[in-house]
Amino acid sequence: MTERLYYHDSFLYDFEGEVAEIVEGPRPAVILDRTAFYPTSGGQIFDIGTIATDSESLKVTEVADTEDGRVIHYLEAPPKDIKPGTKIRGQIDATRRRDHMQQHTGQHVLSAAFVRLFNMPTVSFHMGDDYCSIDLDTPTLTKEQIEQAERLANEIILENRPVQIRFVTRDEAEKLGLRKLPPAERDELRLISIHDFDLCACGGTHVNQTGQIGCILLRKTERVRQGWRVEFIAGQRAVATARRDFTTLTEAAGLFSAHIYDVPQQVRKSLEEIRALRKQREQSLEELAEAQATAILAETPDIAGRKLVIRTLTDRDMNFLKLLAQKLTRLAPNVITLLGTTSAQPSLVFAQSSGQSSDMGKLMKEILAKFGGRGGGSKDMAQGGLPNPDAVQSAMSAAEASLRT
Ligand SMILES: [Zn+2]
Repeated sequence: MTERLYYHDSFLYDFEGEVAEIVEGPRPAVILDRTAFYPTSGGQIFDIGTIATDSESLKVTEVADTEDGRVIHYLEAPPKDIKPGTKIRGQIDATRRRDHMQQHTGQHVLSAAFVRLFNMPTVSFHMGDDYCSIDLDTPTLTKEQIEQAERLANEIILENRPVQIRFVTRDEAEKLGLRKLPPAERDELRLISIHDFDLCACGGTHVNQTGQIGCILLRKTERVRQGWRVEFIAGQRAVATARRDFTTLTEAAGLFSAHIYDVPQQVRKSLEEIRALRKQREQSLEELAEAQATAILAETPDIAGRKLVIRTLTDRDMNFLKLLAQKLTRLAPNVITLLGTTSAQPSLVFAQSSGQSSDMGKLMKEILAKFGGRGGGSKDMAQGGLPNPDAVQSAMSAAEASLRT
């Protein structure tokens, strides 16, 4: 078993120890007789840092528990001179550890606040690189409850209450009324108490006074299978995130030349304008298509009982081609039309007035097969896309030739 120095002092960032074993393989690692490095467990993520002798220094990239109760330190590169029995100095990344202590102790305060206020127990805790979350066992969670829990948690932080570690037997623990009692595995339990507020069993690293958490900020909440998930951040992370939020909001407000608190109202207004403009545009295009169709039909002669309309447009999209085809084939009973566009998305639309004898779907398939396009349609209306604008003119000529034979 590795002696875990962090059990007694979370602020021990430097320590001395002895190498117990070198683990070779694709991920070189060492096991020490004692360590201050925290391995991922109980929701808290691992420490990083270095393990060094006078002649070499190795980066610790991940730390984990082994099944037999030891702590394994994964290294960036295999050790050269370090062997079992070598004395080493370990140094953990203090900034990262402090952040983890803030998040983790923040979680104790927050979980206790939800129990005290609303009797909502925490069923799991997750600590990520950017945010943390707890899952609460509750069927409902309101915005007001979130705000109340956040306020109480921050009051406990402001009161700077002592956070203490003590070791007790399982029997003693059962009498103490813990917020959460772990499953019966060990005889001795490590308890973390927040003076007059919370008591629970935990193997993680915590601050000494709640004031060191700094602050706690609750963010997104979402329904999960077991209840509700609450995302939160504490300490410097909360400040960094609030800074990022403010920067984002300021940028958005700048786009509207508005105060940040007026952004939602401005966005709502803009969306309404967009909706209205879109409607107007649709109406205008409809009117334009109708006018164009009327003009085209007026100048197209009837030949052998049908009007053949062939047009290639440069600045219209497929939707307009469809609209124009609809108008052409409805305004007169004997129209066959081949429309193409050389715009950013080169396309074809073939259509005929209902009751005509050609098959537009079949014609489209033949033409697309020849020019490497995709699409299809029915007997009266078909559409397709072509790989490039140059193909449009050739495809139109081929379709016309096929129709005239
Ligand atoms: Zn803890």
